[in-house]
Amino acid sequence: MKARYESSFERGQYLVRYCMVGAIACGVCALFFTQTGTPANMVLIFLSMALLIGMIVCAWKLCRCPYCGRRIIAGALAVTVCPACSRDLRSGKKVKKSRR
Ligand SMILES: [Zn+2]
Repeated sequence: MKARYESSFERGQYLVRYCMVGAIACGVCALFFTQTGTPANMVLIFLSMALLIGMIVCAWKLCRCPYCGRRIIAGALAVTVCPACSRDLRSGKKVKKSRR
């Protein structure tokens, strides 16, 4: 499978982020602005669930290291360096392990 984008990881991060924000927004609306059991409430909960599933699918498919292929799901939104091959996920440069 050839990568069509410069950095599929970055694209995945954007998608995951948007899905997460949408899911949270729908969930909050459902909880605070609609009454349980009403059609609007059901629709918002359904949307929120659909976005959550979309987020997981995007994370699963796109959030992987473009260099070694390792999936990075835990902390996919914050990570910038691959934990397996220690390359920068955007530029592909080797990064020396930082001291912690
Ligand atoms: Zn890697």
